[in-house]
Amino acid sequence: MASTVERKCQWCKEPFTARTADVKRGWARFCSKSCKASTQEKRNGQHRAFMRTLNAEQDGQFENEYAGMTSAERMHHEAMMDSTTTHGQDGTGGW
Ligand SMILES: [Zn+2]
Repeated sequence: MASTVERKCQWCKEPFTARTADVKRGWARFCSKSCKASTQEKRNGQHRAFMRTLNAEQDGQFENEYAGMTSAERMHHEAMMDSTTTHGQDGTGGW
């Protein structure tokens, strides 16, 4: 028998029972897949809003900086943006 522990959903704040093994892996943060999906939608929405603000505020300057990059620098820049924005989403599907 797997041991379980009481957890509180980080999205809807409802208590639920999680497996201790999942908690140790940093999973079991949400009571359901839909709650986990909700947090990801929220995060993605914030990211889109952030990018819009960035483009609006630095219109021109940002464009010129980007245009001055070599393609290698540009790819590196994009990779850094990716690694930042996907931080915490490890793709294991654990919850
Ligand atoms: Zn929940």
